Formats: sequence, C-alpha cells, structure tokens
Amino acid sequence: MSTESLLLHFTAQGAYGPDGKELLVLDRADGPYVFDVHGKRYVDGLSSLFCAQIGYSFGEEMAAVAGEQLTRLAFNTNWGTAHPPAIALAEKLVELAPEGIESAFFTSGGSESVETAWKLARQYHLVNGEPRRRKAIARDIAYHGVTLGALSFTGVPRFKEPFGEPAIPTRHVSNTNPFRSALQGEELTAALLAELEEAIEQEGPEEVAIVIAEPIQNAGGCLVPPPGYWPGLREICDRHGILLVADEVISGCGRLGEWFACERYGARPDLVTIAKGLTSAYAPMGAALAGEKVTQALRTPGVTLMHGITFGGHPLCAAIALKNIEIFAREGVLENVRRLEPYLRRRLQEEVLTLPIVGDVRGDGFFFAAEMTPDGDEGRFSAEQVAKLVKEIVPRLLLEHGLIARADDRGDPVLQIAPPLVADEAVLDEIVLAMRAVLSDAGEELARSGV
Ligand code: PLP
Repeated sequence: MSTESLLLHFTAQGAYGPDGKELLVLDRADGPYVFDVHGKRYVDGLSSLFCAQIGYSFGEEMAAVAGEQLTRLAFNTNWGTAHPPAIALAEKLVELAPEGIESAFFTSGGSESVETAWKLARQYHLVNGEPRRRKAIARDIAYHGVTLGALSFTGVPRFKEPFGEPAIPTRHVSNTNPFRSALQGEELTAALLAELEEAIEQEGPEEVAIVIAEPIQNAGGCLVPPPGYWPGLREICDRHGILLVADEVISGCGRLGEWFACERYGARPDLVTIAKGLTSAYAPMGAALAGEKVTQALRTPGVTLMHGITFGGHPLCAAIALKNIEIFAREGVLENVRRLEPYLRRRLQEEVLTLPIVGDVRGDGFFFAAEMTPDGDEGRFSAEQVAKLVKEIVPRLLLEHGLIARADDRGDPVLQIAPPLVADEAVLDEIVLAMRAVLSDAGEELARSGV
C-alpha cells in the first residue's frame, strides 16, 4: 500500500514505504482488538492514543444514532443558534462535572479545547479590568497540543523550536515526578508549590492569566501528583487572581475511573478541557468547560464571546457523545476501571517492574507507564541508547508481539499503556504479558547491539 500522498503526523516522512519500514495500516477492530490489512491481530493497549474508551464493539449502536441525526439535522452551528444534541450534551457534562462547572464550549479536538480555555480565560480577565494578564504557566515536558496557542503551553522544546516565538508567553515549571526527585510526598508538593510561587512572582502576579496542568501528566510517563498538590495549585491561583486550567484531554472521560480526573486529586479548576474519550473516538469532538467565575464573566451584559469554531458541537458528534455517556452508564465503564485498577497495578508490579530494564511503574486508573532504565533502578540510558530503544527496538517488538502501546522519549524513556476502559482481567493480562515480553526482549537486544 503506497503512503506517498499521506503526510503522517509526528513522523519522519521517509520512514515508511518502499525505502523504509512497513507502515502499520489498520483495517478493522473488534472489542479491544485491532486488525491490520494482512489480518494480523493486535491488542489495543493504548485505546488508539487514549481515545477508544469503550473499545470497538459499539459501531452499530453508534451508526444508528449517527443515521438518525444525519437524516434529521445533518448540521447546524453553535454560532448564535443551536440544536438539541449540543444543548443536551452541555447539560449532561455540567451534571457530570465537578461542582462549580457551569457551562461547555464545544470544539473538534484537544488542541482547540486548550485554545478555547485560554481565550475564555483572557475574556474573563478583560471583563474584570485586568487586560495585562497575558502570560501562562505550564509544566516541563507537558503536551497540550500543536496549534500555535496550545503549542505555547506544550513543554517539549523540540516540538516548538521550528515555529519561533510562542504565541502566548509561557513559563514552564517542574512537573510531578517522584521517581526522579530526591523529595517525596508532601515535601515534594511543598517544593513544587514554592517553585510555582516563585515563578509567578518573577513573571509579575498581575500579568499571569492561567496556570495549566494535566491532573496526571501524560508526557514523561503518567506522572501522578503528590498529595495536596492540586489543592495547593488552587490556593496559589486564588491568592494571585489566576485561573486554574485542568487539561483532561487524556486523563478525563473515565481514564481514571471518574468522568473527570480532577475529582481524583482534589482539584477544583476554573476551566477543564476534554476531547478524545468524550465520544470514545466514534466521532471527533472536544470541549472546554467553564466554572462559575468564568461563566458569569461571559454572561456579563454587553460582553460577546470572541471565539467560534464552525464544527464545534457538530450535531453528529454531540449525538454520539451523548450515546457514549449512555453506554458508559449502561456498561458500568467507570465501575470497571475502579474495580480493576488494583488488579492492573498488581499485575504490572509482578510482571513488568521485576524486569531488569524497568526502574519504575507508575500511574492510576487504566493509565500506566513503565520507565526503562539500564539497572532496573534510577540509572539513565545514554541518549544513543534511548534513541535505539524508543525509535527502533521497542516499536518493532510491539508489532511482533501484537501489542499497541506507546514508547515515548519526551521525558525519560517509557512504555505506556492505556487499555480500553471495558477491558476485563483477561485482556489486561494479555496486555501486561505482551508488555513484559517486549521489554524483556528489548533489554536483551539493546545489550546485544553494543550501543
Ligand atoms: N492536551 C493534552 C493533555 C493532550 O494529551 C493532547 C493530545 O494528545 C492535546 C491536548 C491535544 O489534543 P488533539 O491532538 O486532539 O489536538
């Protein structure tokens, strides 16, 4: 199959095709499994990049909803008009969201949701007579998207450097990585909060508009916040009049056993971004949800929301998102994650953490990473070894072992899993054992390579 006309995202364009490796081309799916064009089966240990929360077996039900909506009203915007699916979905999300969230703005995906949160925050500050609040604070290695506003918040320098000065002046502070810190628990929290406070002081507290963070950071490998971290962010933001944004594009929509990940860590954000799992990827959709303060500012008489996205809240996507929420409740999806999280954690500790190439296993919910280290402890591979492992050995072994998972080197090298939220013990075992096989073979192969 020729791939010459298709530009692949975040991929060296010559890497696949006649002069490169064979591209994985997926053709169909069933439950937690995907099948390539040759019929080979893979267990999807990553839910198609953290999206396919309910797996792939609800196509007919989704198609029925889609058919009904497309024949009734194929499209209308949310620009000064609306349609029943968007209205119902906004109501439903506000009902499911943490206390204090009052409204929803729909988008087509995660980057747009993050951009929307920024614009809502800016309009909030303008309404409050604080136009100087133009800066953001985000965290190292965090990924918040690729459009130019969202890219400003992204803390991976090599993703940004080709595109010049960030559109939004953003200061990055440390993320929450107990494995790579001398401090643990509340001491780590205190140090991180002190660093944030200092950054705000240096930037000028009256110039900072938002602090944005994921409840549990994805890039770097499922970085769980230490105790009291999110309440601490809230207190600092309140003291300085800064809005707190929880980017839940990955960690929301059930990934941690809650509709909203901030519930898990005692976070009370002013704005929440979601996407990916909102429809379980049966259609592309995202949202920025606004708390009381922001919603009220936007409702101020005379204020116009200066933001709009043609397809944001598309009726087809909204109808599918509503069906997804219904399926979550009917199938007990959140309950499944809560019930099986301890099982998944234990199996990873037994089968993966015990490997000589694994230094740490971390995460929550159905969201875990194994950090690869040379000594099974806190040592670090050389840059050359990381490249060999993450770009070459592990991706090839994943395909060989029939596992979709993510080898990532945005921080220290990790192999990450995020199983569909409907996975049972048997599927989780299959994922964990394949992960074990991949990492075990990878360690041996790296040693043999002499790199
Ligand atoms: N925010 C976070 C935390 C993400 O992980 C991502 C994508 O992975 C985004 C934003 C951007 O989402 P999208 O790729 O849908 O634009």
